[in-house]
Order: sequence, then structure tokens, then C-alpha cells
Amino acid sequence: PMFYEFKPTETVKAKHGTELRCKTWEAEAALRMLENNLDPAVSLVYDELIVYGGAGRAARNWKEYQTIVKTLKELEADETMLVQSGKAVGVLKTWPHAPRVLIANSNIVPAWSTQEYFDELDRMGLMMYGQMTAGSWIYIATQGILQGTYETFAAMADQHFGGSLRGTITVTAGLGGMSGAQPLAVTMNDGVCLVIEPIDERVKQKVREGYVDEQARDLTHALELCERAKADGNGWSVGLTGNAATVLPRLLELGFQADIVTDQTSAHDLMDYIPEGEIGEVLALKTANPEEFKRQALASIVKHVEAILEMQRRGTIAVDYGNNLRGQAEKGGLNVRDEAGHFLYPGFVPGYIRPLFCEGKGPFRWAALSGDPQDILRIDRALLETFPDNKLLARWIEKAQAKVPFIGLPARVCWLGYGEREKFGLVINDLVARGEVKAPIVIGRDHLDCGSVASPNRETEGMKDGSDAVADWPLLNALANCASGADWVSLHNGGGVGIGNSTHSGMVIVATGTPEKAERLRRVLTTDPGMGIFRHADAGYELAQDVARERGAKIPGL
Ligand code: NAD
Repeated sequence: PMFYEFKPTETVKAKHGTELRCKTWEAEAALRMLENNLDPAVSLVYDELIVYGGAGRAARNWKEYQTIVKTLKELEADETMLVQSGKAVGVLKTWPHAPRVLIANSNIVPAWSTQEYFDELDRMGLMMYGQMTAGSWIYIATQGILQGTYETFAAMADQHFGGSLRGTITVTAGLGGMSGAQPLAVTMNDGVCLVIEPIDERVKQKVREGYVDEQARDLTHALELCERAKADGNGWSVGLTGNAATVLPRLLELGFQADIVTDQTSAHDLMDYIPEGEIGEVLALKTANPEEFKRQALASIVKHVEAILEMQRRGTIAVDYGNNLRGQAEKGGLNVRDEAGHFLYPGFVPGYIRPLFCEGKGPFRWAALSGDPQDILRIDRALLETFPDNKLLARWIEKAQAKVPFIGLPARVCWLGYGEREKFGLVINDLVARGEVKAPIVIGRDHLDCGSVASPNRETEGMKDGSDAVADWPLLNALANCASGADWVSLHNGGGVGIGNSTHSGMVIVATGTPEKAERLRRVLTTDPGMGIFRHADAGYELAQDVARERGAKIPGL
């Protein structure tokens, strides 16, 4: 009930246009991005301020939301607002080039950092789960993950299927905020995707949004549609209302052979993974008896992973999609590791993404504060002109323009590396200065980036030097971005893989078109991906060491 107190009478949605409610564009940008996270078109459960990823919130409750909004409106150009787990707790006199907002979400002293203890703090009203970009106000709806998912499937196509997913079937689950990107990422690689989701309305929503091509009536119909598209060599995605823990074993019984199997249900938190059973009853159990719900969720996860492992034994390529499904199955007593202690099927980062991290690449993004999609299309053009030789980028922009709907403030995600981000940040600032876009542009990234996260079951799984769980790197990343002049900086615990399993930081800077901003953009957009070069060079990745030498990242002792 506390969530509903002080809920705004008018539905929250990011303001568009050039009129300011705050004293600086930087504070206005933070406000609009907070509003954008909550916009019902963007957020998962508006009433409870849940943006995505299970229970990832933008503010602790509506009362604290109102206080944050008021504080941002009053914030001076030399002040900084401090946010502790979704609550504004102080305003500091700093200086104009310092961040306007500093955010810490869900952090707990390491020995106490368990889901159970977090839940207790959450119930006491002392914390909220910030996920990655939910509590740090730089979520851009499903597109945010889409290019990363697209790049991952492209890398799988290269490694296993001769460069394209044409004529292959991928089976996965989850049609929520991030997981909903999977079917489109597969079809953008010309493959066929069967995606399973227990909440029927979510399947329908993704069909409406264009992320899923078609909803199947039942499993038989789904398999017919998939086989037909596969035979025709068409990219096509089929949504099936059902539970992965039920459907995957059924696929095995039917002798159905997928080419790729993965999963992106919210398995990182047992309260968000839906156990098998009639959906209405299961959801009622969640409120009536949470402990029993979690017990059943864990049992279903074990069944789900057993089926993935059996599919792998039968020749399907299995990959973990960063939701700690394997880790939870292990908690449930299933053996998910080989004798050497490695997971029986790899996570997507060590499997496919780490070489990109070694070049400082990651999910860089920008959003148009004007609210005008034309601004994003103008920047798309500048992007293609700035990097004319990058074929993958050109293909991404072409496909994104054709297939990716703008949801909330128009935005674009684009994996750029060390050197490229700085260069393009300055291009954007210049477009703002020349009035070629109608308002300032917010530039940020996911916390899932090359140098901003420690997460042993995901981004830092299987690091070359065994430094998987070393969390100094994201802390340094946040400090470095503050020192370099970012506009808002955040430090979180537990994003992606659940409380206690990751530490990560976020960075946002607003291109306002001023020369001072150009200076700060130059510093921040070098510092931030530079942390990825340092992190991977230090861990012994030669590619990162080469990039450091070639592009002039200073590493003592290299
Ligand atoms: P979400 O809560 O928005 O959506 C998850 C969906 O999974 C929901 O629609 C839910 O109904 C469905 N689901 C739950 N149990 C299921 C089951 N048994 N069978 C089929 N579907 C089921 O969460 P999200 O934002 O989509 O994120 C999903 C997971 O992916 C989270 O664990 C998140 O932390 C992780 N994640 C991974 C990446 C990455 O890059 N790999 C990025 C962001 C998030």
C-alpha cells in the first residue's frame, strides 16, 4: 500500500520540448529520464514504480518519487542531489562541473549481502532494488538490450552457423522488459525464434510492439509455424503462452531439435521466476505464501535447466543469458558444473561478448530530450558519416530504423568502443550546438559494460586471471566518472544476477552543446570505456593490451 500513497494524479511521462522546469538542462535531463523510466509505455509495473528486470525500481515509492522531483526542480547549478536506494537524502554544495546527481542503490555490506537480508531491508522501507538502469534513470526500454542481444546472436551465428541464423531455430523464454528483445534479435539475424512466456498479455503486448511476429495457439501450432519458417529460410518469431519448465521437457519428449537454447526469465530472484502450474493460481500463491512460491520456483528452475542440459547433450548450442538461471539451479541441488568447476554451458559474455569488451565496446546509448524521433534519425545519419567503414554498425542502424519502435523518449543504442565514444560524443554535442537537433541529448550506457561491472556469473565469468569477483573495478569506474565530470553517476549491487552477485556502476552525461560540455564529454567518454581497457588488460587479455598501446590508454607497467 505504501507505494500508492502520493501517487501523482496525472500519469508520469517524460516531458518533451525545450521548456525547462529545472534550473539546468542537467537536472532537467535527470528528471525527464526518471519520468521516462516510469512512463507506463516503458515501465513493467507502473503502480509499483517497477521499470524492468523483476522488481527493478526507479524510486523507492511514490512519496520519495515526489521528493526527488521537487529536489531536482530546486537544484542549483552548483549543487548535487544524493539518492540512497530511491530516496533523496541530501543536497550538497559542489561545483558546476561536478555531477548533479549521485546514486547508490541496493548496496549492502558484503557479508550481509543476501537476497533474504535485502528483502528484510526492503520490507522495512530502507532499500529498493535498483537493477541496473532502473534506479539510475537511463533505461531506454527494450531497445537498450536489443543491440547487445543482436550482437550476441550474430557472434553465435559466426561461431556455429557460418555467419547467419537463417534456417535455424532458437528456443528461449521470457517476454518482459529485457527478455522481450530476444525474438527480434534472432529475426534480425534471419533466424526463427520460439519464445515461451506464461503471462498471455505479455505475449500479446510484444506482438503489438513488433518484437514478436506471431502468437501461436498452442505448442503444436508453434512448432508448425517454426518449422515452416525454418524450411522457407525466413526470419520469424513465434510467441507461446506457457511455462519454460513445462514446455522444454515437452519439446524433448516430442524429439524436437532446436539449434540454440537459452533463457531470459527473471530467474535472478525466485520471487520473479514463475513456477509451473495454472498461472492464476501460481500468481495468487505469490502473495498468499511467498515461501512456498519460492520453493516451487526453485523446483521449476531445476527442471528447466535439466531440460536445457539434455538439449545440449542432443546437440543444441546452449548459452546462459545473464539471469543466473544456472546459479539458481545449482542452489536447488542440480549439478551444473564439470569436474574443473566450469559451468556445463557458458554464459554469453565469456562465450561471445568478451572480445568486444577488450576494445572498450559496450551498450552505449543516447536519448533525445526533445522527444522528437527526428533528432535520433539526424544522429543516426551523423553516426554513419562518422564511422563509414563500420559495416556491422551500418547494418544495425538500417535494421533498427526499420524494426525498432521508439518507446518513451526516442533513443538509440550503439556498441561503440574506446576512442569511438569520445569522438561521437563530440559529434552529438556539436549537433546540439548548431541546433541540428531540437534539444540536448542524454548520453549514457547500461551498467553491463566493459569496465563498469563485477559479476562472476555473468560479465566477469571465467576471467583469464581468476579475478571474476574482484569488485574494485566498478568502484573505480564510478569514482573516475565523478572525477571526470559526468552528470549523474550511480553504484549498485545485484543487477542482472540478483543481490550479492554483482557490483556495478552507471554513468550519464548530457550533451548541452556548450564548449565546457565538450571538454567534459571528451574526458568522461574516454575515462569510462578506458576502465574496460584497464580491467581487461590487467586480467591478461592481449587484445585489450594491444588496444591500450594503439589507442594510447596509459597503463603503468605495460
Ligand atoms: P522481466 O521481469 O521484465 O521479464 C521476465 C519475463 O520472464 C516475465 O515476463 C515473466 O513472466 C517471464 N517468466 C518468468 N518465469 C518464467 C517461466 N518459468 N517460463 C517462461 N517465462 C517466465 O525481466 P527482464 O527485464 O526481461 O529480465 C529478465 C532477466 O534477464 C533478469 O534476470 C535480468 O536480470 C536478466 N537480464 C539480462 C541481461 C543480459 O544482458 N543478458 C540484461 C538485462 C537483464
